[in-house]
Amino acid sequence: DDAGVPGRVRVAVRLRPRNAEESAADADFADCVELQPEFKRLKLRKNNWHTDTYEFDEVLTEFASQKRVYEVVAKPVVESVLDGYNGTVMAYGQTGTGKTYTLGRLGEEDTADRGIIVRAMEDILADVSLETDSVSVSYLQLYMESLQDLLDPTNDNISIVEDPRSGDVSLPGATLFEIRDQQSFLELLRLGEAHRYAANTRLNTESSRSHALLMVHVKRSVKGGDLTHSSQNGNTTSMAKSLRPTLVRKAKLVVVDLAGSERIDKSGSEGHTLEEAKSINLSLSALGKCINALAENSAHVPIRDSKLTRLLRDSFGGTARTSLVITIGLSPRHRGETASTIMFGQRAM
Ligand code: ADP
Ligand code: MG
Repeated sequence: DDAGVPGRVRVAVRLRPRNAEESAADADFADCVELQPEFKRLKLRKNNWHTDTYEFDEVLTEFASQKRVYEVVAKPVVESVLDGYNGTVMAYGQTGTGKTYTLGRLGEEDTADRGIIVRAMEDILADVSLETDSVSVSYLQLYMESLQDLLDPTNDNISIVEDPRSGDVSLPGATLFEIRDQQSFLELLRLGEAHRYAANTRLNTESSRSHALLMVHVKRSVKGGDLTHSSQNGNTTSMAKSLRPTLVRKAKLVVVDLAGSERIDKSGSEGHTLEEAKSINLSLSALGKCINALAENSAHVPIRDSKLTRLLRDSFGGTARTSLVITIGLSPRHRGETASTIMFGQRAM
């Protein structure tokens, strides 16, 4: 299992259960996908005679629980963040296929429904010690290349600062909220959602047209034991031990609920929507190119092509762990979109 291997992107596909419309569909109207989870395979029907078969790191059927999805898609990344490595979990797919359900579900009515973000924070809070460590969160929306603070609605033009030497990305204007317990984290998420809704109403757009990014910064103090050489006779005195420096280890988890990947019909759309479409296409294709470059071990990762990829610069590639879940439905009406989502996932591997 190479879940923890840096550099390579791990790709899972998740099928959304049938919705009312799909359940009501004519029985002859055959599903366009068939999953073989035991072989980690997905078959996409091209027509009555032909299907294409694809393999993924994990194939999650409509019966996969939120718990299992978390364990497969996010847990290895969360664990490596707790060990001091940056990590990214992204969901890519057509609007309505379950990206937000997979990542952002709060599960307040039924804890079994909790999505990746809530489960990740539970694991993080369970592992850190709040006397010596700190966990803080930023929550952002990237809409048409403008980066908005979902924790402070007055702040809708955050700039991205990259350290030219380390490559570290920082967002000096973004609110960083320190998390002490799960309850305050849930409140923060609700607040961010409300701000997102208000901002999108004001901008006359939908949340599916922007990327939502949750950033969790984990700072841990570790005794610098590894850096202290033991004395020649092997005696490390308690004196020497107490002199070990305390180091601060920082890592960041970024969870990205990407804008809907569907092609927005250009002919029928108003200027506003056309600009949105162009911006979404630009950022998703820039992301795709960067992920391909990683998959191919290419020296050139075109990170500068969009704000989305600039934001993720220190969170994938290098020592960072990246996990991508692509979400699909089974309706033959959306076969084209489903095929393009599958191709995005395949190119990442
Ligand atoms: P997206 O964020 O990709 O646009 P959503 O997460 O909003 O899609 O999901 C669309 C609809 O399908 C929602 O009503 C959601 O509750 C439902 N849904 C998505 N995935 C699942 C799932 N695995 N199980 C049950 N319902 C789901
Ligand atoms: Mg969504």
